Amino acid sequence: MIRSTVEDEVARILDGLPPGAGARQAFAALGEARLFAPHYPEEYGGRGGTLADYAAVADALGDRGFADEVHLVTVQGVGCAVLYFGTEQQRRRWLPGIASGRTLASLLLSEVDAGSDAAAITTSAREGAAGWILNGRKCWSLHADWSSIGLCSARTSKGPNRYSGITLFVVDLTSPGITVAERPRLLGEPYFTVSFDEVAVPDDAMVGPLGGGFRVLTSAAGYERAGLDYLSRGRVWLRAAEETLVAFPQLCDERRRAGLVRLEYGLQAAHELADATIAGADDFEFDYVSSAYSKYTCGEAAQAVARWVAEELLPEPVVQTRGDLVRRLRAAVAEGPELSISGNAVDLLLDTISLDPSLGEV
Ligand SMILES: Cc1cc2nc3c(=O)[nH]c(=O)nc-3n(C[C@H](O)[C@H](O)[C@H](O)COP(=O)(O)OP(=O)(O)OC[C@H]3O[C@@H](n4cnc5c(N)ncnc54)[C@H](O)[C@@H]3O)c2cc1C
Repeated sequence: MIRSTVEDEVARILDGLPPGAGARQAFAALGEARLFAPHYPEEYGGRGGTLADYAAVADALGDRGFADEVHLVTVQGVGCAVLYFGTEQQRRRWLPGIASGRTLASLLLSEVDAGSDAAAITTSAREGAAGWILNGRKCWSLHADWSSIGLCSARTSKGPNRYSGITLFVVDLTSPGITVAERPRLLGEPYFTVSFDEVAVPDDAMVGPLGGGFRVLTSAAGYERAGLDYLSRGRVWLRAAEETLVAFPQLCDERRRAGLVRLEYGLQAAHELADATIAGADDFEFDYVSSAYSKYTCGEAAQAVARWVAEELLPEPVVQTRGDLVRRLRAAVAEGPELSISGNAVDLLLDTISLDPSLGEV
């Protein structure tokens, strides 16, 4: 694995939090040390570090169960879109807040009938007296109730093809006309639907070119791509599995011990691939094929843990006597399938990989 110079400092901060501290406290504590987004330039609240530093923070948050998906979406998805496509004024307006760990952000791209096909959106923005008027509904955001801003895609015109005419806006989620509503999820934390009803958005909230937002949108989604958040889930589930075998030594036979070792190596190997993808990224420009391969492999490695838990541990009657362990094991089974769809559906990752001249052959 790549070793980042901030790893020890991040661990010290997170392990020094008061007992019971939540993810938002963890984010703010990291932000105070300029470690929430350590790879951002110093003038925007970072340390001018590398993507390996970002990865170290993501790993540390995920391992401790601190909503690393919020870190990912805020820092990489929204923040990097502003960093790379925003104006200097926009960077100064939003990035220091994001880097402080106190301004959290949602990526508002998906709609009920526009997920993999992000150009199928029906959310629209029309010109108003002092900017734009937004109408529509975005779905599948986690922790949107924590966010004060969202990067939202909207159709601003009917371009010559369906990929043009889409524009991205950073929207203040406290604006009148915005509703953030919970949608239950199998795993506990709900999804949120964010609805826009005649929401006024100023002109200077537009990130990237008018009508040319599809490129920004694919990058914003692509910045998430290494798959590290999948691996942290896999590690958390594996820990629950290991603790179950410690609690019930009668289940800990050679076959199961070997199974755990295989899963552990699978996660480690996938991490190597994610590291290689991150190391090969040119600033924030991820190579499409290697990031698709990395995300696919990380998802598979984590899902293998969930599958093993479902087949090897949960059916055992004795395990059912420990409610705390069962809850953690069931979380793996509930969340595992989402890894095939979140960010980019697995079929599309495979599609991308298959088009590569060398990897595609494999
Ligand atoms: C945990 C989680 C978090 C999420 N967070 C966010 C978020 O923060 N912001 C956000 O905007 N969205 C978010 N999403 C939504 C996510 O991006 C979409 O679920 C994803 O893009 C897939 O879209 P869909 O659900 O509409 O499925 P669909 O696009 O309808 O796909 C359904 C099935 O059809 C397959 N399919 C679709 N098109 C093709 C094709 N061309 N070729 C082959 N197969 C195809 C897919 O692989 C899949 O198996 C999240 C989803 C999850 C599960």
